[in-house]
Formats: sequence, C-alpha cells, structure tokens
Amino acid sequence: MFTSARFKLTAWYLVIIMAISLCFSVVIYYILSSELDHSFAVIYQRYEIRRELLPPDLRPPVLESTPLDAAKDHIKLNLLYIDLFILAASATAGYFLAGRTLRPIQRMLDEQNRFVADASHELRTPLTALRTGIEVNLRDEELTLNQAKGVLRDNLEEVESLQSLSDNLLVLANGKDIKGELDLGQVFLPKIFQEAIDRVSPLAIGKGIKIESKIAEVSLEADQEKIIRLVIILLDNAIKYSNKDSLISVVGETIDHAHKVKIEIQDFGIGIAEKDLPFIFDRFYRTSKSRSKEGGYGLGLSIAKQIVDLHQGSIEVKSQVGKGTTFIVKLPLFPSRLNFNLGSLMS
Ligand code: ADP
Repeated sequence: MFTSARFKLTAWYLVIIMAISLCFSVVIYYILSSELDHSFAVIYQRYEIRRELLPPDLRPPVLESTPLDAAKDHIKLNLLYIDLFILAASATAGYFLAGRTLRPIQRMLDEQNRFVADASHELRTPLTALRTGIEVNLRDEELTLNQAKGVLRDNLEEVESLQSLSDNLLVLANGKDIKGELDLGQVFLPKIFQEAIDRVSPLAIGKGIKIESKIAEVSLEADQEKIIRLVIILLDNAIKYSNKDSLISVVGETIDHAHKVKIEIQDFGIGIAEKDLPFIFDRFYRTSKSRSKEGGYGLGLSIAKQIVDLHQGSIEVKSQVGKGTTFIVKLPLFPSRLNFNLGSLMS
C-alpha cells in the first residue's frame, strides 16, 4: 500500500516539476529565438545596405537564414536535454522525498495496527474464558442455584475486569483523555492522595495491606483528575503485587529548592526482575510473574508514563525481586512556567 502511495506521490512531484520546467523551457526558447530573429534582422539590414553599395558583379550572395534555424534547433535540443536531466533528477529526489514524507504516517499506521492487534488479543482471552465457563455450566443439568450464583459472581468479576480493560483501551486509543490539553489548576497534594487512597482502600483492606502516607502540604499546578489517576495506578499495582498483610509506604515532598514535587510509592511485594525493568512502561507488557497474579493487562504503567510526560515530569522505578518495588515520580510545581521559559528561550 505504501509502495503504491510512494509512486503516486513521486508521480505528482514529477508532474508539477515537469510542468514548471516545460513552461520555463518554452519561455526561454521564445525569448532566445526572438532575440536571435531580432539580431539577425539587424545584421541582415546592415549586410544588405553594404551589399547594395558594392557593384553588382562584386556583391556577395544574399544572407541566408539557415544558420539561424540551426541555432534555434540547437537551443531546442539543449532545452530538451535539460528537461530530461530535470526529469531524471526530480524522479530520484521525488521518490526519496515521498518516502520521507510517508514515513511518519507509516509509523503511525504500524503503531495503530499493533495496538488494535494487541487489544483484540487481550480482549479475546478473557472473553473466551467467560464463554467457555458459561457453556460448560449451561450443559451441567445438576447445577444448583448456589452453584449458579457462584458462576455468575465469577462472570461478574471477569466482566468488571473486561470493563476496566476497555476503559483503559479507550483512554489510550482515543487519546483525548490522556494526550489532550491539560486542565491545569492548583492541586493540593494531600487531597490527591486522600482521594486515590480512598479509591484503592477496599483492595488494600481485602489483602490486609496497610498504606502509610507522609504527604507534604503543598500545592502544584497540575491536572487533578490525571494526577489522581496516576497515583491510583501506582497504588493499585503496589497492592496487586504485594503479599497479604504487608505495608505500602507513600511519600510526597518538595525537592530541587521547592521547584518540584517528588512522589514515592514503595511496596514490599514480588518485585520486578532487572530484565523486565526497561519494558514495564510499554503497552501490554506484563512480567511472567505478574501473569500468574490477579488482574492486569499491562496498560496501567503506560498510561501513568503518558500522564507524567504531559506534566513534563519523570518516572523511574527501583526494584528487587522478592523484596519490593519503589516508583519515583517527579513533577514540576509549575509546568506552565516551564513552557513559558522554553517559549521565551526559543523566540
Ligand atoms: P498491569 O495492569 O499488568 O499491572 P501495568 O502496566 O500497570 O500493568 O504494569 C506492567 C507490569 O509491571 C505488571 O504486569 C507487572 O509485571 C509490573 N509491575 C508494575 N508495578 C509493579 C509492582 N509494584 N511490583 C511488581 N511488579 C510491578
């Protein structure tokens, strides 16, 4: 598809360049030939005057216009060569430029295709499990009401997990939610953490996990909803990948002479192997250990990274298998001023 688009684009470049080049050639030809005609007319006149002055038997022959026609043909031929050269050069350059023009579009399309393929794969697995479960239970004629309720409960869990997957997919695919403009406002850090902890506490309580937090009373300029989402993703992971009855520690403080805020979320769970660390922010990436654990489609951290990037911050991770993981997020207190400074530097 891209090869044919590349050829088409090259052809369009050629049509435009050749149209311009041919117009120029015609104009140049007419200018030169009229100049030649004019010069020839002047020379012819002078020649005739001098010739008339000579006695008839000494007069040279009448001046012929054959060399003039030959000169015009010569110009035509040269212009044709130039046009042929322009055709060959612009075909090569056009083909190269068309490739360069289409490359970002091709990359975007590849990325989109990969996203659709990954998303379909992720949706297919739980849907197949759900379907098989329902079919098996429907065939079971001795299924009691209690058992049926148990099956429905399991199904509900699967459906809830699918719903969260589709929500995350929408966020990533739609782009609006994450990539769109930031809705910046003054955000009070303790309030953010309170909201995020409230949202995840049913999960923590379910596993007997205690969340200890020490948050500085500081406000930052940020998109409140997105920052809450970011903290929820990190806390949700910390709970998911922690053992029962363990501890999660959350710290929020200012750093860099109060120009940034640092958020640290530390758990004492399964940890992440060093070989997995470079990939955990990739879409759909899950470590082999987490696959056997509850939930998770490998989208949370890629959304978290996008949110941090949008706020011009950074996110890093330190982890040791079997000991635990710490995510460190650094966010500028005033991202809009960073933009302003950058803008004034560039202008
Ligand atoms: P998921 O929904 O699978 O948790 P994420 O994108 O949030 O997807 O995380 C990607 C992978 O990174 C997880 O599958 C898991 O293997 C690993 N991971 C993330 N957070 C932690 C953590 N706190 N402890 C251990 N592993 C983690």
